Amino acid sequence: MTKTIFEKIIDKELPANIIFEDEKCIVIEDISPKAPIHLLVIPKKPIKMLSAMSEKDQALLGHLMLTIKKVAEQLDIKDNFNVVINNGEKAGQTVFHLHLHLLSGKNFSDLLLA
Ligand code: 5GP
Repeated sequence: MTKTIFEKIIDKELPANIIFEDEKCIVIEDISPKAPIHLLVIPKKPIKMLSAMSEKDQALLGHLMLTIKKVAEQLDIKDNFNVVINNGEKAGQTVFHLHLHLLSGKNFSDLLLA
C-alpha cells in the first residue's frame, strides 16, 4: 500500500511543524491554515477515516480528544477552539488517514451548528 502524506510525516519522511508527539499520535500545523491556529491531530495507526474505526479503537479516539485538550491548554486556547473531522470525500476529506482539525482564532459558528 502507498503511504499517505500523513504516514510519511509520521515516519519523518516528509517535514512538518510538529507541535506534539507521543507513542499514539502526532499533532502538526496544517500546511494551508483555515484559522490563525489550525492543527491536525493524527493517530499513528493508519485508520482511513472515522467511519473505519471499530470498538477496539475506543481508547485511541479518547486519547486523541484528550490530546486536543492538552495541546489547547498549552497554547492557551482551552476555552476557544473547534474540532472538525471530515469523513469521506463528499464531506471534504482529502487525506485518507484519520485526522482531527483543531481550529482556533476564527469564529466558525455561522458555518457549523448555529
Ligand atoms: P481533510 O480535507 O482531509 O479533512 O484535511 C486534510 C488537511 O491536510 C488539509 O487541511 C490540508 O491543508 C492538510 N495537508 C495536506 N497536505 C499536507 C502536508 O503535506 N502537510 C501538512 N502539514 N498539512 C497538509
